[in-house]
Amino acid sequence: MIIPEFPADAPPSLRPTAGYVHVPFCAHHCGYCDFAVAVGKDHLQDAYLDALACELNALGHPRPVQTLFVGGGTPSHLTTPRLRRLLALLQAWFNLLPGYEFSLEANPESLGNDKLDLLAEHGVNRLSLGVQSFQPPLLRVLERPHRPVDAVAVVTAARTRIPNLSVDLIFGVPGQTVAQWRDDLRRALDLAPTHVATYGLTYEKGTRLWKQRQRGDVVPLTEDLELAMYETAIDVLTDAGFEHYEISNFARPGFRCRHNQVYWANYAYFGFGVGAASYVGGERRLNVRDLQAYIRRALSGRPTHFQAEVLTPRIRALETVGQQLRRVDGIERKQFQVQTGFALDELLGAALVRNVELGLMADDGRRVALTRRGLCVADAVITDLWRAGTDRPDELLEETAQDIGGDARYAVVHGQATWPAN
Ligand code: SF4
Repeated sequence: MIIPEFPADAPPSLRPTAGYVHVPFCAHHCGYCDFAVAVGKDHLQDAYLDALACELNALGHPRPVQTLFVGGGTPSHLTTPRLRRLLALLQAWFNLLPGYEFSLEANPESLGNDKLDLLAEHGVNRLSLGVQSFQPPLLRVLERPHRPVDAVAVVTAARTRIPNLSVDLIFGVPGQTVAQWRDDLRRALDLAPTHVATYGLTYEKGTRLWKQRQRGDVVPLTEDLELAMYETAIDVLTDAGFEHYEISNFARPGFRCRHNQVYWANYAYFGFGVGAASYVGGERRLNVRDLQAYIRRALSGRPTHFQAEVLTPRIRALETVGQQLRRVDGIERKQFQVQTGFALDELLGAALVRNVELGLMADDGRRVALTRRGLCVADAVITDLWRAGTDRPDELLEETAQDIGGDARYAVVHGQATWPAN
């Protein structure tokens, strides 16, 4: 079935101008990772690209997009000929509009000069590098396959071809100290990136790291220590001239990630590939997370999603609250009403006032946003507002809270679902 088209003047919450494509292959399954990844299945790379080509047929004809994001997994793990094939496929189905942003996620160990040249030739103009840490012992805890020196080498090589570079770092790693975290931030700044994303380590159920914690093999850091690390990141990066523009994201002026801002505005986007989410015309679709099932379905012309839901206007409005509050700029009342049809104060009622009184949110009459204290407990604030605004029965609350990103990497960072495999 062809994905519907919307007139050029349709609102951005219905008409996608952003595309996400998921590439699940990785060299190694990091112990903390709960994304849709495929390890030891490189023999399926060609079949996966065949399947992706079939799924992309649903576009019907090339669609104009302002941003394109190839995430994973590790897209740079594809062999050079397969990466070339993927890029050609994307060129065939997406018209990059003038001033576009085309991002690709890469890991330091899998990005040589040949791939960098190829990416630059095909219009990739932003790289998101999974550095995570510069401390060898912490890289071992995270089970990352690269060395600090690899990250430095790849940034040096990339800079001449694709100067818009984002570096991902992780804090809250078992055994990590604030001093080590400060050192990681400093070494990341030494690489002169345009953007830094800092994620607190989470223990996702079923991952190796989660099992290690269950057995007592690793001891999580205290909440106070994690909080100190988060605040250290804010201080160090803003002192270095970065804008703190989303809970976990910092950018040099002019270098905010435009693609991720589509998610945080709760605007529409296309999503393709195993485990990918899409949001078109107010309908949320989640693709299957099992690689072989995805390939089978796509190649046989069957739907690749296992869940599709047209969100009610209220749920859509609450989802917009959850996403837009992630932005340090928060929610602009008038724009929110135009986008959702709901007056923010009527939707959230006393919960909004309560969070302002608690000092977790700031309200200047025109917009509301999380305060610095609120940013530190953002998930709790968002869930509280959600509970106040939802008219869904309690048993659906958890499910929908996941949908809005209360806990949610879902459709926020990588445009992919992070929970139940079908
Ligand atoms: S953390 Fe990144 S590199 Fe590691 S398994 Fe997950 S997607 Fe792959």
